[in-house]
Amino acid sequence: MKIVFLGTSGSTPTKQRNLPSVALEYNGEILLFDCGEGTQRQVMQNSLNISKINKIFISHMHGDHVIGVAGLIRTFALNNREKPLYIFVPEGEEKKINALLTFDKIKFDYPIIVKEAKTGVIDKNKDYIIKAFRLKHSVPTCGFIFKELNRLRFYKNKCMSYGIKGTMFAELKEKGFININKNIKNKNKGKRINLKDVTYEVKGKMIVYATDTRPFINTVTAAKNADLLIHESTYANDNENLAKERMHSTALEAALIAKKANCKKLALLHISSRYHSIDTMKKEAKKIFKNTIIPNDGDILEI
Ligand SMILES: [Zn+2]
Ligand SMILES: [Zn+2]
Repeated sequence: MKIVFLGTSGSTPTKQRNLPSVALEYNGEILLFDCGEGTQRQVMQNSLNISKINKIFISHMHGDHVIGVAGLIRTFALNNREKPLYIFVPEGEEKKINALLTFDKIKFDYPIIVKEAKTGVIDKNKDYIIKAFRLKHSVPTCGFIFKELNRLRFYKNKCMSYGIKGTMFAELKEKGFININKNIKNKNKGKRINLKDVTYEVKGKMIVYATDTRPFINTVTAAKNADLLIHESTYANDNENLAKERMHSTALEAALIAKKANCKKLALLHISSRYHSIDTMKKEAKKIFKNTIIPNDGDILEI
């Protein structure tokens, strides 16, 4: 799966960084985590197909995370979109998102379905589940967990040696076993092969998105063994007190969360516009959690 950091600034944009948004491209669809102002252009500039956006997960109703929705839904309407768009918002925040959706009197020919992100599973299909959890910020805020489901893979050589081919794979998956044809010229003829004899499980990947927030125990629990934690890092240590006061995190605090949760990788975003260089922030985080990155807008991660 591909993760594109569309916007990595916090609160206000800079020349280099747009407001928060992360795109996750998976199996032909795009899931958008937050949608700051200007996100639709960031999508285009990063060669993502805007019409593939099916679901938007809004962490909280601060303008820097949500205002881009108004422009995006308008573009969809003008592009004659027909398929539904799902927008997930923290519990109790439906009214606020509706104000953005109805702001423009443009005619929508596609359904926009707003869902409240209560704690727990908020979305699932055959490939993944998405869970929401509470963060600690100045307004109701959700973190999101994207969990790819574990998949079964066939041992190619084993299958070949049993003479399993073509439609037999589907039958085996469906029934959990298959009887090798008695007439086949193979030492395994007439043998019953169980699914578990010829498959192995590939663990699904897990990505956790946590912004805006103070460092919070919920994030440690949610991000346990995650392949990637995307965590806010508005400030460096020099503004530790401001981070507390404004309910944000420093790079070091985010790194501690990643360490406690035993994550494989940490990506920091929501970088305050006051920092022209991210070197200090990076150094402070890496001291605690080595595999930390601070992506620029447009950076891509393949997970
Ligand atoms: Zn913010
Ligand atoms: Zn905020």
